[in-house]
Amino acid sequence: ELVNLNELFNYVLDRFEMMLEKDNNDTHSTKSKNYTIKRDFTKKDLWVEIDTDKFIQVIDNIMNNAIKYSPNGGVITCRLLETQNHVILSISDQGLGIPKKDLNHVFDRFFRVDKARSRAQGGTGLGLAISKEVIEMHHGKIWADSVEGQGTTFYISLPYHEYDDDEEDLWDEN
Ligand code: ATP
Ligand code: MG
Repeated sequence: ELVNLNELFNYVLDRFEMMLEKDNNDTHSTKSKNYTIKRDFTKKDLWVEIDTDKFIQVIDNIMNNAIKYSPNGGVITCRLLETQNHVILSISDQGLGIPKKDLNHVFDRFFRVDKARSRAQGGTGLGLAISKEVIEMHHGKIWADSVEGQGTTFYISLPYHEYDDDEEDLWDEN
């Protein structure tokens, strides 16, 4: 379906902020990790043809990774921008990072950086493999950039066809 990506991304991030708030107000909870979300979005609405549920799963997984592999109190910066024919969504964390040699492998099934470290964090190592499948199904690309000890950025690009004014007029008439 045709989806406003700015709205969808905001919706997913709002949910993460709500989970934090709930956690902070619940005196019985074993406090999970604290984090701050920063949003840097283009003002322009970006419409993309996507499977909403699957796309939400992808963002959820990347956000959960950003939280899981970051120290307490990290900042997660979420960006949305457009190039001439792509939209680019990115999520940057201030976590432990991924060694250069492992950067491409994190999308492999069951691959986890440093087995011991990852086992302590829980998970199966399937999240990013599934994410890659979903993004490629949408004719998009997913990749990562990282500096060990400083943080990681995950990027998703999707093909984007801007609607010109003629097309908008057509929509208005209906
Ligand atoms: P799950 O199946 O629950 O998602 P997982 O988080 O281990 O398990 P992936 O999401 O596929 O699996 O991630 C694969 C591996 O890539 C992780 O185990 C971790 O080692 C590394 N990784 C992923 N995201 C980050 C990140 N933001 N910072 C550092 N390492 C990361
Ligand atoms: Mg994961």
